[in-house]
Amino acid sequence: MRRSLAHAQWQPGARTVGRRIRTLQLGPSAPATSFRSARWQRGGARLALAAVSVALKMADGGSGGAGSGASGGVLVQPRERAMCWDERVDFQAAFLRKLAKYVPNIYSAEMDPLLEKQEEMAQIKIFDPLEWYLFREDPDVCLEKLRQCGASQLCGKVFKGGETTYSCRDCAIDPTCVLCMDCFQNSIHKNHRYKMHTSTGGGFCDCGDTEAWKTGPLCTNHEPGAASTTKANSECQLNEELMAQAKKMFPSILKYIVDMTIWEEEKELPPVLMTREKTDHYYCVLFNDEHHSYDHVIYSLQRALGCEVGEAQLHTTAIDKEGRRAVKEGPYVSCQETKEEIKRHSENVSQQPLHVEVLHADVMAHQKFALRLGSWLNKLMSYSSDFRQIFCQICLKEEADSEKPCLISMLMLWDAKLHKGARKILHELIFSSFFMEMEYKKLFAIEFVKYYKPLQKEYISDDHDRSISVTALSVQMFTVPTLARHLIEEQNVITVITETLLEVLPEYLDKNDKFNFQGYSQDKLGRVYAVICDLKYILITKPTVWTDRLRVRFLEGFRSFLRILTCMQGMEEIQRQIGQHIEVDPDWEAAIAIQMQLKNILLMFQEWCACDEDLLLEAYKECHTAVMRCSTSSRSREKTVLQLCGHTLESKRYRVSVDPVSIHLPLSRTLAGLHVRLSKTGVISRLQEFVPSEQFQVELLMEYPLRCLVLVAQVAAEMWRRNGLSLISQVFYYQDVKCREEMYDKDIIMLQIGASFMDPNLFLLLILQRYELVSAFKKIMPTKDQDLTKQYNILIEEMLQVLIYVVGERYVPGVSSVTKEEITMREIIHLLCIEPMAHSAIAKSLPENENNETGLEKVINKVAVFKKPGVSGHGVYELKDECMKEFNMFFYHYTKTQHSKAEHTQKKRRKQENRDEALPPPPPPEFSPAFSNVVKVLNCDIMMYILRTILQRAVQLETHLWTEAMIQMVLHLLSLGLLEEKQQLEKAPEEEVTFDFYHKASRMGSSALNALNILMLLEKLKSVPQLEAQKDMINWILQMFDTVKRLREKSSLVATAATTSGSETTKGDETQSTQEKEKAERKRKAEAARLHRQKIMAQMSALQRNFIETHKLLYENTQETQGREDSVMEEESIPLAIDSSKIVLGSKRGPSITEKEVLTCILCQEEQEVRLESAAMVLSACVQKSTALTQHRGKTLELSGDTLEPLFMDPDLSCGTHTGSCGHVMHAACWQKYFEAMQLNSQQRLHVEQIFDLENGEYLCPLCKSLCNTVIPIIPLQTQKINSEDAEAVAQILSLARWLEIVKARILGYSAKNAKGEKQNAPCLINKGMGDFTSEFHSILSFGVQPSAKYSNSIKEMLVLFATTVYRVGLKVAPNEADPRIPMMTWSTCAFTIQCIENLLEDEGKPLFGSLQNRQHSGLKALVQFAAAQRTTSPQSLIQKHLVRLLAVLLPNLKMEDTPSILDVDMFHILVGAVLAFPSLYWEDTVDLQPSFISSAYNHLYLFHLVTMAHITQILLTSATESPTAQSQDNSEEAHTAESFCREVCQYTSGCFSRDVPGWHLWDCVKKGITPYLRCAALFFHYMLRVSPPEDLLLVSEEGEFKALCSYLSLPTNLFLLFEEYWGTVSPLLQRWCADPAVLSFLKGKNISVRYPRKRNNLVELPEDYSCLLNQASQFRCPRSSDDERKHPMLCLFCGTMLCSQNTCCQELVNGEELGACTSHALQCGAGVCMFLKIRECKVVLIEGKTRGCLYPAPYLDEYGETDPGLKRGNPLHLCHERYRKLHLLWQQHCIIEEIARSQETNQIVFGFNWQLL
Ligand SMILES: [Zn+2]
Ligand SMILES: [Zn+2]
Ligand SMILES: [Zn+2]
Ligand SMILES: [Zn+2]
Ligand SMILES: [Zn+2]
Ligand SMILES: [Zn+2]
Ligand SMILES: [Zn+2]
Repeated sequence: MRRSLAHAQWQPGARTVGRRIRTLQLGPSAPATSFRSARWQRGGARLALAAVSVALKMADGGSGGAGSGASGGVLVQPRERAMCWDERVDFQAAFLRKLAKYVPNIYSAEMDPLLEKQEEMAQIKIFDPLEWYLFREDPDVCLEKLRQCGASQLCGKVFKGGETTYSCRDCAIDPTCVLCMDCFQNSIHKNHRYKMHTSTGGGFCDCGDTEAWKTGPLCTNHEPGAASTTKANSECQLNEELMAQAKKMFPSILKYIVDMTIWEEEKELPPVLMTREKTDHYYCVLFNDEHHSYDHVIYSLQRALGCEVGEAQLHTTAIDKEGRRAVKEGPYVSCQETKEEIKRHSENVSQQPLHVEVLHADVMAHQKFALRLGSWLNKLMSYSSDFRQIFCQICLKEEADSEKPCLISMLMLWDAKLHKGARKILHELIFSSFFMEMEYKKLFAIEFVKYYKPLQKEYISDDHDRSISVTALSVQMFTVPTLARHLIEEQNVITVITETLLEVLPEYLDKNDKFNFQGYSQDKLGRVYAVICDLKYILITKPTVWTDRLRVRFLEGFRSFLRILTCMQGMEEIQRQIGQHIEVDPDWEAAIAIQMQLKNILLMFQEWCACDEDLLLEAYKECHTAVMRCSTSSRSREKTVLQLCGHTLESKRYRVSVDPVSIHLPLSRTLAGLHVRLSKTGVISRLQEFVPSEQFQVELLMEYPLRCLVLVAQVAAEMWRRNGLSLISQVFYYQDVKCREEMYDKDIIMLQIGASFMDPNLFLLLILQRYELVSAFKKIMPTKDQDLTKQYNILIEEMLQVLIYVVGERYVPGVSSVTKEEITMREIIHLLCIEPMAHSAIAKSLPENENNETGLEKVINKVAVFKKPGVSGHGVYELKDECMKEFNMFFYHYTKTQHSKAEHTQKKRRKQENRDEALPPPPPPEFSPAFSNVVKVLNCDIMMYILRTILQRAVQLETHLWTEAMIQMVLHLLSLGLLEEKQQLEKAPEEEVTFDFYHKASRMGSSALNALNILMLLEKLKSVPQLEAQKDMINWILQMFDTVKRLREKSSLVATAATTSGSETTKGDETQSTQEKEKAERKRKAEAARLHRQKIMAQMSALQRNFIETHKLLYENTQETQGREDSVMEEESIPLAIDSSKIVLGSKRGPSITEKEVLTCILCQEEQEVRLESAAMVLSACVQKSTALTQHRGKTLELSGDTLEPLFMDPDLSCGTHTGSCGHVMHAACWQKYFEAMQLNSQQRLHVEQIFDLENGEYLCPLCKSLCNTVIPIIPLQTQKINSEDAEAVAQILSLARWLEIVKARILGYSAKNAKGEKQNAPCLINKGMGDFTSEFHSILSFGVQPSAKYSNSIKEMLVLFATTVYRVGLKVAPNEADPRIPMMTWSTCAFTIQCIENLLEDEGKPLFGSLQNRQHSGLKALVQFAAAQRTTSPQSLIQKHLVRLLAVLLPNLKMEDTPSILDVDMFHILVGAVLAFPSLYWEDTVDLQPSFISSAYNHLYLFHLVTMAHITQILLTSATESPTAQSQDNSEEAHTAESFCREVCQYTSGCFSRDVPGWHLWDCVKKGITPYLRCAALFFHYMLRVSPPEDLLLVSEEGEFKALCSYLSLPTNLFLLFEEYWGTVSPLLQRWCADPAVLSFLKGKNISVRYPRKRNNLVELPEDYSCLLNQASQFRCPRSSDDERKHPMLCLFCGTMLCSQNTCCQELVNGEELGACTSHALQCGAGVCMFLKIRECKVVLIEGKTRGCLYPAPYLDEYGETDPGLKRGNPLHLCHERYRKLHLLWQQHCIIEEIARSQETNQIVFGFNWQLL
């Protein structure tokens, strides 16, 4: 139950996290689970071990005779053994004898234990007999009975570290009350405002605890009557016999556990357990500590043991987890030696030696077994309340005549000495016994409090984490309201805690008995916070009923607490440094951190006091005494006298700028807090009874807070700049939201208390005195020292501000009658007056109460409107218009920047609304009676003097003596005064109103000749040019003066009746006249504004023109591409284009889009036309491996391509090579220069981690900073025109059959030629008689040839460079320009990239043409043109060889070795390869030839038709298998041809393929299956030949698209007609395709194949509710290790695998490198690039390779439209589909790498994170 709050607190200087041996993350192992699993195995183990068992029985002395018992078989044996125990008299003796006999044997192999074996043995030898002895019948049966009826209503699930816990903000008594996932999901709180948190381990589920929940304490699982729980508790009480047995057994068992765990002898056992000869068998045992780092320990072990790193690591991990481990076994002497070695080595590395002990093997075995026995008990107790009670009774039993504490207290007191593993088990024992029984929980708590002091002291000097200290249990008891009450009343727990604090803190006391934390140990102080936290727990629920005893005890505790505050009052004094800067900044964090820790505790104490009148008065008296005691001890007794305006103040001589001062005044502030509560409850009237007025010296009370405020002012005036940064930080926290409630706010209240008790004039004199401003107001200072006047000016501003706060800030219950809600509303309004804000930003700026609540949700909708977020960013709240009037420019919680921002925003807003810019204060709420005197400060003589002096200086234009801010404050004060008078006049008749601000302000201040009153000064002020901005405000005040004057006159005339209605009318009059004036003024202003705007616009457009002019070159590129795109469009729309022009293949091929390509280099800004013979232009590009299209995710990928053959692509597209580009063009030469410069640059700064890998050619695009790793050369398109007459002529003779014939002839000719040289791999034709024509080697040339294109050297060089990059990246091999696989990779990346783009367009629902992004368009164009040109840089014989292999798939009579069947290849890759390689057939020895355009047209056409037919067959065989469920009467032509074609296929497969699939369905399947291929082909041919596509392809329409595709690609719409047309030629091919053994084996169901259309990949589906994911994560078990350690589950968003990341258990050795689970998964799943969801932290992680990665916001939003990385806020989260879609596109667009690079570039943080181990 009850999660510790401590971790939620701010801790200054977060601890070094490092890889310390620490256990924070490691939860306790759950014995429950292990027990259960043991039991599970038992059934099976029993039979298997029957033989062993018998043998053991024999060894046992043969007691009980033969196993011929009634229950049958081996099951009898434990029972028999149990029986014979029974006969012996003393259970304890028998028990111990048994243990002595077996334990050392079972646990003998400590170094390398066979855990399962150990467990089995323990079960058989010890636990079985014990259970039989206890139950006297089959324990399994018995336990099952108990389980069915005896479960507790408390859930009691103990949390492991990392588990998610839930708390209900509506119903939980306090935020420490939590539910486990199961209970939460089944509770009513699921629909409330809940919070999710991650447990640090320890603590347990509060389900069932009625004290923890206001409503719904039980989930449906634990509700009485629920299936799994008891019907009625009474029914399932244990029977007497069983109870008796338990009572007999438990004490011995428990005693053994306690004895062994606290056993300190290293070499000896207790005599009873010593049965056998002592062997010389020892272990050297290493213990865990928090001092040494992982690496230290590994290092020391390696040295001391002389072992491998791996072994040392293993030991270290185990030590970290369990707390201790045997690292060596052997005789005593050698273990002792090892011990010394380890100590020596560890001391060398870190001063402090490791804790090592040499333990005897038997001692080790018994200690181990004692813990195992503990787990066993633990499990047993979960079955029955009676067991628990018996256990508790024994634990608590004190031996009558002994001083020794009871057993449980012994364990507690020993806790800090135990190792981690032991502690965990003991704490669990406490959880499952005491904490499940309310009555015993109380008794335990009493014991706990009894030993509270020593326990805390032990904890503080211990170095283990709090989560594994017994002291961490305090939260489980102290937060239970009834228990807390009881502990206060009976155990005086508040005093116990505070006294503990007083005892542990003295080491920080200085000579004045004040704390001083200079040079404190952060860790130790952090441990002290735990005690402070306990104080918070005990106070967290206010009592509703007060007994006398409670009152007494509480007051006693409060008094004791005041003693702590006394030590803090005035601690860490500072003195202004003059002349020299301080040398070292003093530590300030500790003191401030304690203030933060105490903030809510102080508030809670005040709240508790306010529960009861007498208590409050009593506490006030105590506190007052304490303050006075601290105040009178002040050093100086000297007095000064100050006189001004006839008032005289006598005060102590003290100057903040000279004498010591402290900002820590918790006593004064507590008193202020109690004072407002006195005022609120009204008992202030009785104050005199407790604090006589002669003792109530208010000047003294407010003295210290006032000094503190003066200090803040002086710091602002830079008077303390030589005191360094530490002071600045303190002042910051003093006013920060984390501290201000108990610091700054209370100081202001204290001044208000002062003002309400003192004479206002004296009060102001005191203020002037302390601000050291008396002289500044008395005389005009010399102007020489500018710094000094500036200083004075700031001080005056600061003082005026504080005066504004004293009279104006009344939003405190008690100061006025406001509610908490109103206060929160006001805070929010002022935050939103600055700007619209996100929910979390508002929450962060509001103070949290002890329940971590800000009250924000209750009121936010009253004052603000929520604006939803877009695909990025977050939702914000905007202030409602009607709340704008609440804006107070001098809101006391504004920082300086917030103040000016808010002022600016509000003025702007008013301007936009065409209103004046006056921002007067809103009317403040009325002071409550106790504070009503404060307003007198406003109209007292000194105030008037101050205001007048400042105004006078402004009017007299003494510019150095005043500032605009000062005037603003004066105006604000005037407004406050006038508002006050107006309010009073409106409420009471004039003569009763004594507040005469108007009167005072219109009086002359002096008799001087040119003296002016305030009103006159204001009039004059209007003409001061520097105050132009304040004019509206001055006018507003003058109007107010008028209003008040009228009110006074009216009310004196019309007497009482008219006061209310009269004031209304005057108001009306006044507003009318002013309205008119305002109107005219507004009009004038609007006109001026319009003219101004015009002027600005003109300036802007001139600027813009200039900008475009100068940056023209930059724009050129993009505009040009756009322009081209447009021209394409235009061409489309011109009707002149005849139909034939929209065909890309065959004789009717349309003309290419021809344009002169002039590009601008982004580096040198020069233009150049792209031409074959010129220097190369290149396009920046990024090549990456990709699994974006895979149909077989998780397939093992070859990580290095040394042996890969990339000619054929698997039909599952499991891994391809993608080429992308950002579309930016450079000269090849410019790029090379740029790249070299970067290399040079990086060499110079060796140590700066580069985000890109220069070795692998990576660089950032110079323009857009995308990550690139190569460049694509831009190859100009050869303009092609086909003479239609020639085409017709060729068409007559060149049929498909003929074409095939001449191709074959050509191939055979080559092979004959080559045969002379090399023999292998020569293709041969199996069937020669395939046509009527006889062709010879040169026939192919007769259909037209032309010379090959001649590329410039520069282009050639770039062709080689890019091709080599594709090869290197795609295959992950070292670059090799001569590798024969280079052309294959070129074709492959071309085909794959087109497939990716096609897939993406389909996914996004965009048309095939015209919708590509510019970068995609230019990238694809360059890639296809490159792929066509690459051939020329490779040997033609090589290309031919590849071509023949490709063709061999289609033309099976072209027999080649290892040709795959048509089912085993991707047809589009074949098409691309064949088309691009085909020109190599035209190669002649002497002349470099390529096919003419006409020849190419036919080559393309026939290749395409052949591949298409193969693909149709492929689709039919694989995808048209299932009969449709729906019926259709479609008798279309397609259906008929499909059916008849299918019959043919049936024949060829010798009946393997024969399904009764109707023709229309076949057609449907083929059409759907082939569309992606056709779309890819259209893209490919379009980008190769640049023939415009039909309009239908520029639109999205399924039907139109198919027809258009067929027409563009010269296909009949009924694709089966292709077969009919070429039947003679194709049928033999078809026959052989189908007869391939691989195909037949597939048809027989032996293999599986890809289906078409291929499925489109999506990111895994995520649940709507994030807690479902957390649920999944909580059930996640690491596949490699069985322990219950905390895991970091990561969900692969590609495939949905859950991985165990950042853990050594799941590291994988890949190519000799240790890779984390995610990194190694990414290599397989995403070819190195992957996307994960870090579930516990709700963050997306993108990674690439082993070195790079970044975080990305998860696609989950809370109801305020914000993400919650780290689940820090814990609000319910829901899936945002748009954002998830964005992630999906990031993946499919292959932009993950780019995103990573961008994120690293913008964050500029050199990531210390080791991505490799993720
Ligand atoms: Zn639960
Ligand atoms: Zn429950
Ligand atoms: Zn609830
Ligand atoms: Zn250039
Ligand atoms: Zn770029
Ligand atoms: Zn995956
Ligand atoms: Zn693991």
